[in-house]
This record gives sequence, structure tokens and C-alpha cells, in this order.
Amino acid sequence: MNLSKNYKFWFCTGSQDLYGDECLRNVAEHSRIIVDELNKSGVLPFEVVLKPTLITNELIRKTFNEANIDEDCAGVIVWCHTFSPAKSWILGLQEYRKPLLHLHTQFNEEIPYDSIDMDFMNENQSAHGDREWGHMVTRMGIERKVVVGHWTSQAVREKIASWMRTAIGIVESSHVRVMRVADNMRNVAVTEGDKVEAQLKFGWEVDAYPVNEIAEAVGAVSESDTNALVDEYYDKYEILLEGRDADEFKRHVAVQAQIEIGFERFLEEKNYQAIVTHFGDLGALKQLPGLAIQRLMEKGYGFGAEGDWKVAAMVRIMKLMSAGMKDAKGTSMLEDYTYNLVPGKEGILQAHMLEICPTIAEGPISIKCQPLSMGDREDPARLVFTSKEGPGIATSLIDLGDRFRLIINSVDCKKVEKPMPKLPVATAFWTPQPDFATGCEAWILAGGAHHTAFSYDVTAEQMGDWAAAMGIEAVYIDNNTNIRDFKKDLMLGNVVFGK
Ligand code: MN
Repeated sequence: MNLSKNYKFWFCTGSQDLYGDECLRNVAEHSRIIVDELNKSGVLPFEVVLKPTLITNELIRKTFNEANIDEDCAGVIVWCHTFSPAKSWILGLQEYRKPLLHLHTQFNEEIPYDSIDMDFMNENQSAHGDREWGHMVTRMGIERKVVVGHWTSQAVREKIASWMRTAIGIVESSHVRVMRVADNMRNVAVTEGDKVEAQLKFGWEVDAYPVNEIAEAVGAVSESDTNALVDEYYDKYEILLEGRDADEFKRHVAVQAQIEIGFERFLEEKNYQAIVTHFGDLGALKQLPGLAIQRLMEKGYGFGAEGDWKVAAMVRIMKLMSAGMKDAKGTSMLEDYTYNLVPGKEGILQAHMLEICPTIAEGPISIKCQPLSMGDREDPARLVFTSKEGPGIATSLIDLGDRFRLIINSVDCKKVEKPMPKLPVATAFWTPQPDFATGCEAWILAGGAHHTAFSYDVTAEQMGDWAAAMGIEAVYIDNNTNIRDFKKDLMLGNVVFGK
């Protein structure tokens, strides 16, 4: 998927007029070179835009407010080339509302041993200028990312690139609108939550629609549009009849094609970027949306099953954060389904009734048509595949009654040992870090759900920074986790975030 906006990041250099015009000319020239080289590096996913050197309260305040208003600006990068008295920044920082990166670098990489004099020292003093600035941001309690190192370093550039993607997740969060088709599944706790609080914290709009209103939009899709999409499916995917009549199979597939088109038109018309369904409340829909939802997720829509709007919004945000990423491996809703408990081979088989995003697939993708064994509808068509190997993160956003908590588990995705020919759903398989038993124990202690928003492409650090920007608690379960310390993390969260 691609982002609809052409986001940019502003580069603001802090200085002052104490050291004369020549120094300020050098400061501006150095910043221009840094910005040009960052843009030319090919590492950053978004353009950096150089702003005039900030030396007065008025200009700082004006620049930050312009950044607030500019819809294409997704964040500001600040670096203090010289000392920049931080009281000058108070008003601007107080009024600034977008993501902030403190790039703690300096123009020269090496101390120029032979030529260094006091003029050089005064001009190249981010080592103390950036400390003055950082002090103020900390004192004001403003969330920001700090990246340290020389601006030519690949590691530094990759950190800036990673933060840019976090910033997209932050600024886009308040544009996420989730369409609820029917209510949450009855009696289920973990998919529930406070939608007003979610809008306060994350900016999400979560609205319900009667299922038959969207079913009418599906019914309005013409046969020719439907058949054209069915042809596309038959070109793109393997067809696994498994003894079913070919025409009957195709009619089942056409139901999903009509749902895909009808849902997408309805979502677009009403400006929603994420959707939930519920297998127990399908109204006039002939099948549970399976293949249709899988295709919508592939296009970038968020999805949550059984009314799980928190997962739908999180899938959307994680897709936005990885949008346009080179060699992206995929992002999907998943569900912890069943275990392999054989010693040394422990892991969790991830699946759902149908709705797994094909972006995570590896190898061929096939269409199958099978009974659902739940609900009372036609056998739904669905895409079936297995998923990629490698590290990923599973996240669960839960509502604890007094607050939201984001649980972030680093997981290692693997191939299952043997094919599962009788399983008619897409799957993934992973072992949670630090190991199966500790990972599952920590997840359950933290209150993590069975539905997750999973990504190979978004990192635990990015999601933790996103949670911090939203002002909510985040806990990490990874190779550094042990249960004794993890319980202390949860206790600390109760103290800091509990009401
Ligand atoms: Mn489920």
C-alpha cells in the first residue's frame, strides 16, 4: 500500500547570534549539506526540508506553529549546531503538537587536531548546545526521540528512517476511522473497550453500521464488475476445487468478489480505513467475508474479527507505518489458535477462521471453499497460504478499565514441520521470545488478547515509541524478558498509568 499524503519532515537548526554573521552563515551551510546528503542517501523514506536557522523566540514559535498547520509535515528534526539558549524554545515547544526528533550530531566527524581553535569550538558545540536543548524538552515533559551519532553514519540514518515511520503512525492515528459492522461478539471481554477513551488517546473514530446497510452496497455491485474481479482472482491464485463442482465453486468465489467491491465502495464513500465484522451477525450477506476481507487488508485496510475494533485500528496503523517499505514482508491480524508443545519445537499456530492478510504469505496462494463450522451461511471462499520465516512483532492493545496497555511481543516466525493438508485456512507459526513458556506466561500476566496485530516490518521500538507518543503504557516481551522483572514492569505501569 501507499500513503495518500506526501509527507515531509522539517529540519530545524538551533543557534544564536552571539558568534557573529560568519558563524551563522557556516551553521546554515552545514545544515544545508546535512539535509542534502540525508535526502540523497536513499535511506530515508521521506524528504527532509531545511528551515531557516532558529535563533529567536519569535521565529521558533512561528516555525513550530507552521509545522502544526502544514498537513504534509509529519514531524520536526531539531539539532543545535551551536549553543541555543533553551528558554527561547519554551513557547514554540509548548505550542508544538507533532512528532519531534532530536538529532544529536555535529558537522565534523573528527576533531581537527591541527587547526582547532576557539572559533571552531564556538561554532561546533552541539555537545553542549544539544544538552541545553534536551534539558528543556525533558523539563517540559515532551515526548521525543533522541538519535545520537554522525549524520553520515548508516546506523544513524536508519534510526532516523525508523523514527520517520513511527511519526507517520503518530500523525496518521487521528485519521483512522473504524467501521463496525454489527457489535462485538457476545460475552467476549478482550475485544471490548472504551471507544470515547480511544478517541481521546489515539484520535480514532469508531462507528457502528447496521450490517444490512453494507449488505445493500454489496447487493448493488453489478454482475459484470463481480465477474471481472473473479477473473482477476482466477488469474492470480491457484484454485483448489478439492472435489467440488467447478461452477458451484466459482459461484461461491463470486460472492466474495461482490463483497470485496461492495465493502470497498462503502468504506471509501464513508471515509473509513478499517473495518470489523462478526460471523454471528451477517444480515443479508451470503457468506462470512473471507477472501474479500483478506484482499481489503492487502490493500491497506485495517481489520478485526468478531467486532475487535482495537485490532482493526492497530492493523491499519502498522500498515501505515510500513507503507511503501522496500522488501516489506507483511502485516496482518492474527489469532493465537493452537500450540505445538513438543520439547524443543514449541510454538503457536496462528490463524483465524478466514481473515489473514496475504501480505504475510510465502509461496503460492490458493482459493479454497469449505464449510465454516460456525454460523449459518454458505461455505465461504478464502485465500490459503503459509507465511514467511523471520522475526516479527505481535501486539495487543487492551483496555484495563482505567487505561490502555500495549503489549509488544517479539516473535520468531518459522515453518511448521509438516504440511497441514486438511487445514483450510492461512497460517503462520511462531515461537514467542524469550522462549515459549516465558513468552506465554508474560503475555497472560500482562492481559494480552488472543487477537493480535502482527508485522514483520514494524519494530518493537517503533511501537513502544508510538505508545509513548499516545501517552499510554507499553510493555515489551522479548529476549530480555524474565518473569520476575516483568512483574515489576507491570507494577510500575500500575503506579505510573493506573488511576
Ligand atoms: Mn477471533
